Amino acid sequence: TKHIAILTSGGDAPGMNACIRAIVIAADRLGYQISGYLRGYNGLLDDQRITLTCERMHNLLQQGGTILHSARCKAFTTEQGLKKAADNLTKSNVDTLFVIGGDGSFRGAHALGQIWEGQIIGLPGTIDNDVAGTDATIGYYTAIETAVSSIDKVRDTADAFDRVFMVEVMGRHAGFLALSAALASASDYVILPERFSNEADTLTQICTQIQQRQAKRGPVSYVIVLAENVWPGGINDLCVRLASQSNMEVKPVILGHVQRGGSPVSQDRLLAVQLGTYAVTLVETSTSGVMVGTYEDKAVTVPLPQTWEDAKPLPDDAVTTMMTLMNERYR
Ligand code: ADP
Repeated sequence: TKHIAILTSGGDAPGMNACIRAIVIAADRLGYQISGYLRGYNGLLDDQRITLTCERMHNLLQQGGTILHSARCKAFTTEQGLKKAADNLTKSNVDTLFVIGGDGSFRGAHALGQIWEGQIIGLPGTIDNDVAGTDATIGYYTAIETAVSSIDKVRDTADAFDRVFMVEVMGRHAGFLALSAALASASDYVILPERFSNEADTLTQICTQIQQRQAKRGPVSYVIVLAENVWPGGINDLCVRLASQSNMEVKPVILGHVQRGGSPVSQDRLLAVQLGTYAVTLVETSTSGVMVGTYEDKAVTVPLPQTWEDAKPLPDDAVTTMMTLMNERYR
């Protein structure tokens, strides 16, 4: 009988548990032996492994976080580390390794695939949605929801005081989360890594829009979404400079790690179960070194290097919509 193993690696994301559950239930149906390595690639190096059963999956789908724990693992990136991991997998007779994580985790999985001959299948789990080859990643939709409900609350107090707020949203080096959160919260401006030109122009554009609105309507609130890692001096520098140029108080809000937590929303649950069950159907095939993702709602496989080699573009439609709505207010 086949022995499959699962690990969750890199930044955790809501829906990772739902994905584990889907894999375990589908694999159990086929009579496979199922192990879970703890703390990402660390568990692979230390052979920290637990047996996963269907019973353990009860009530798991709706839980945030990951029961396998996640981590980063420096030792795994060395030749020695990869060798140790491969040896441990071979010793335990693992046939298939499922890696739930982001592009960093897939780089690791690909490197492991160069020296371990077992089957490796990646599943995209990250709130950043920055993995090419799939329409969406598990956790992305929940993070949008969390960011949007937080920005809605910021808007209430911004309105009450006619204030400017700068809300920093996660996304690593991609603007998916920031763009979606800005659109769905009717934010007034969004600063995205993919569209950022320079500091001076950005400040001037924001100030001009605020002033045009004030001229038309008197005191106004103004909510700006800032993707993390875009502004060279960080959010505080941005707020100070915008305040001095606009003559308004500018309050920073960093949403931070709340965006990684919480019970997954339905869209993430559906994606997690779709990809998890599909991944298990590949166990009896020769397909390896791939990520499973969705393309136009259908499950597909993509060679692991493609997930990081091509930068995933922001959806043009969403960008255009944001631009239209941002400008609409000032006509
Ligand atoms: P994410 O999967 O969320 O993008 P990271 O970028 O932190 O998270 O990657 C998770 C782990 O994957 C790293 O801590 C490391 O162990 C492994 N990894 C990343 N890049 C490589 C690489 N080029 N070679 C081997 N392992 C890697």
